[in-house]
Amino acid sequence: MSNVDVIVVGAGLAGLAAARALVAAGRTVSVLEARDRVGGRTLGAELSNGVPVELGGQWVGPTQDAVIELIAELGLTSFPSYDDGAAITVVDGELIRYTDLSFGLRPESIAEVGRLWAELETLAATVRTAAPWHTDNAEELDRQTLDGWLVANTADEVACGFFRLLVPTLFSAESPELSLLHFLFYIKSGTSLATLVATTGGAQESRVSGGTHQICERMAADLGAAVRLNCVVRTIRQDEHGVVVDFEGGSVAAGRVIVAIPPTLAGRIRYVPALPALRDSLTQQMPAGSVIKFQIGYETPFWRDQGLSGFVLSMDDPFNVVFDNSPPDGSCGVLVGFLEGAHARTASTMSAAQRRERVLSALVKYFGRQAAQPFDLLEQDWNAEEFTRGCYGGRLAAGAWTSYGRELAAPVDRIHWAGAETSDIWNGYMDGAIRSGRRAAAEILADGAAPGPRSHVNGRRS
Ligand code: FAD
Repeated sequence: MSNVDVIVVGAGLAGLAAARALVAAGRTVSVLEARDRVGGRTLGAELSNGVPVELGGQWVGPTQDAVIELIAELGLTSFPSYDDGAAITVVDGELIRYTDLSFGLRPESIAEVGRLWAELETLAATVRTAAPWHTDNAEELDRQTLDGWLVANTADEVACGFFRLLVPTLFSAESPELSLLHFLFYIKSGTSLATLVATTGGAQESRVSGGTHQICERMAADLGAAVRLNCVVRTIRQDEHGVVVDFEGGSVAAGRVIVAIPPTLAGRIRYVPALPALRDSLTQQMPAGSVIKFQIGYETPFWRDQGLSGFVLSMDDPFNVVFDNSPPDGSCGVLVGFLEGAHARTASTMSAAQRRERVLSALVKYFGRQAAQPFDLLEQDWNAEEFTRGCYGGRLAAGAWTSYGRELAAPVDRIHWAGAETSDIWNGYMDGAIRSGRRAAAEILADGAAPGPRSHVNGRRS
């Protein structure tokens, strides 16, 4: 059995960023990755004409300093997402083109959307992102779902429908599936709702040339043999001497372990001794959303000739959020779009041909008959992935932040937790994943002495 200073479970952005930080500080590491590739929720692919596209995380934007700096450090470059021309909103059977900040909504609805938006931003400003359970009125904010708040705060069905559409674009989950506190935490962790939603000036501003999966590939190349693929971690044992991680095919021993996988998957590992009850309960409270991502290739970005940016939000259709994802030279046209939340769950039981029909009929509605003839269409259902089981990330439903939130990133003796879900900055995003890995590495570097085991065993007299 090999022996290192720190074992890292998971070679996504969080795990590799943690390993990189530890190695830079002179520690030995072993990164155990279940898949036959690194990158986790970042995944590169090519359309049949060789143009690279991303089937997982793809955009980066302002205030995402950790990922932007890492991209440069690794010798990668980025380019601006296409964002010229009119966007489209579909509502009540009407297809509306717009170039202003109205989202194509009627004046009375956009006024109501603006009022609710401002109220949500004001509430979000009160959240203590490093400890949301300590936010003023945390219990009250956590008791209600986001949907309950919307219903209680507006009678405007279009405004309500607009937010019900926006929520899955951020969480791949529906507004009744998350607490108001979680929504507010999330938008503050990503700077603001406006930043999360925007292309230019926001989270969709830029893309990495060649694809974001290269960030992990380059970090893994620097780590060399320390990264071990096809190692599915099953058991983590710890005692006063150290930690032993068993994977299918072997074991590694170390002083500490960083578990850098989504919380719900972390809950499927066996821990000896068993985790404290509240920590295990947390892993049962943080389900991931549902998303199927599509990349659709055309000979040209023909919608640009119609003065369209390619951005669509539809309140009427299941395939309801679309962006222009063409290569920077516009040598072909690519549209990226998503089936999210309830729409993804419904579509996951269909055949690939039925999903293709669903996607293309929506695109024909938005952009005309030319949209019916792509030269390629790629899809990726993240819920079907054994080592992801849903995206974009884990969320907390009503009551969960205040009941279990403290456990999210708190180490359990020799076990430290990383992953996009554990970050208080850009939670759920690539930037947050990198920050979380560095935070877990810093915990270990700051605390050289091995901790003694906590006692939490049933049947013990106290
Ligand atoms: P992961 O990437 O999930 O890494 C965890 C790793 O652990 C995986 O490699 C997995 O295989 C491995 N693993 C799991 N179980 C085990 C086990 N038992 N043993 C060993 N290894 C295991 N973010 C953005 O910033 N911008 C975007 O535009 C964006 N869009 C997205 C679109 C989609 C469709 C998806 C899916 C995600 C998107 N995200 C986006 C989110 C972003 O991709 C993730 O937040 C980020 O990649 C998560 O990194 P991570 O290291 O925390 O987790």
